[in-house]
Amino acid sequence: MAKATGLTHNQQIVFDVLSHADRPQTAYEILGSELAHENGLKAPLTIYRALEALVDKALVHRIESLNAFIACDHEPHPEPAAFLICRNCRKTHETTMEACSGIFQATARQQLFTVEQVTIEMSGLCAECQAQARS
Ligand SMILES: [Zn+2]
Ligand SMILES: [Zn+2]
Repeated sequence: MAKATGLTHNQQIVFDVLSHADRPQTAYEILGSELAHENGLKAPLTIYRALEALVDKALVHRIESLNAFIACDHEPHPEPAAFLICRNCRKTHETTMEACSGIFQATARQQLFTVEQVTIEMSGLCAECQAQARS
């Protein structure tokens, strides 16, 4: 788990909610959490601002396909993050794709394109949901 230092009060709360969640959370799920409620975070805009700052700090990743956010499982990393997202239970596993970053950069370079960020989202069924589907 990434260490969060120098966060504002609101950012810390949002980060704590995401760190304790077992799957990606939407801004509204964060807003509806007990921790946000106890700490007086009531406005969606407050949550969005905190999320934006946390994404900038690379402590949190945005999962585009779920429109949700997840706390980074690692120290802040420059290499692409890849997510295995269960389409049934939404449990998401983060892994980094160090081995692939050269391929992405080379592909982009052919188009004279400068890559700023790469996120890979793989959807499917997690081991638990596969087992459930079989039984
Ligand atoms: Zn990460
Ligand atoms: Zn699952």
